[in-house]
Amino acid sequence: MTDRNERIERAKELGKQWNKEVDKDTLDAAKKGAKSDYVGQWKRTPKLPKYPPAGQSWCGLQPIYEVLEKQDQKRKSKYKRLGTAIKPPQQFVVTDGTGIGNREFVTGPRGTDVAFSQFQRKCIPCGQAWVASQKDVDNSNKAKERCWKCGVVNNYKETKADIAYREIKFPVTTPGCGDTVAYVSLTGEPAKKLEAVLRPGSVIEIQGWIKPNKEWKYKNNKKYLVDALLITLGSTQHGGYVKLIKR
Ligand SMILES: [Zn+2]
Repeated sequence: MTDRNERIERAKELGKQWNKEVDKDTLDAAKKGAKSDYVGQWKRTPKLPKYPPAGQSWCGLQPIYEVLEKQDQKRKSKYKRLGTAIKPPQQFVVTDGTGIGNREFVTGPRGTDVAFSQFQRKCIPCGQAWVASQKDVDNSNKAKERCWKCGVVNNYKETKADIAYREIKFPVTTPGCGDTVAYVSLTGEPAKKLEAVLRPGSVIEIQGWIKPNKEWKYKNNKKYLVDALLITLGSTQHGGYVKLIKR
């Protein structure tokens, strides 16, 4: 597609989304917002990106980026996690993803129904709890057979849980800046409350967590993973929340 055609297509799709009516209850619920109900899992942290997905400046994320940079310089192993709290809360503006070569955010967030099985294990001798994935079970992952606290092997109670939740993801910038500087992922109740109201230009307020993550970028019809910053509400105990400031 030529740039001009693409711009026209974007404008049309955006127009539709902008004109979409949202009932008052849905809007009020989004303005009231929702607290994190995130169930975190440990993941290896990818590299700290040098630049945002689009543009060269971190805009309003600059102070936070400097905190992450300092953490990264002190990090002795790539297995050490990177991440810092967004506290006090900060405002973000939803973007249409211009500059990341990805047209899927032109009308707002991408929504996904996430579903997987989790095996919640509890050590019989010492009571320590941990979780194993379906993959761990299929591969008989030895590390997950052992209690990491007392070292006992294969001596636990197991409960299988079927986890299912809604996830939405969208690119954001900070007020007064046009470039996409990070992505936001909301899950569970916060995702449900905001999915219908968000569109490019919407302003939200988040108290949460920011860390490097792998995200899709498109070039010449190919997609590949790049390092980018991801904002979540963090695990429940940190008091993270999101609310709509302006649709
Ligand atoms: Zn134990």
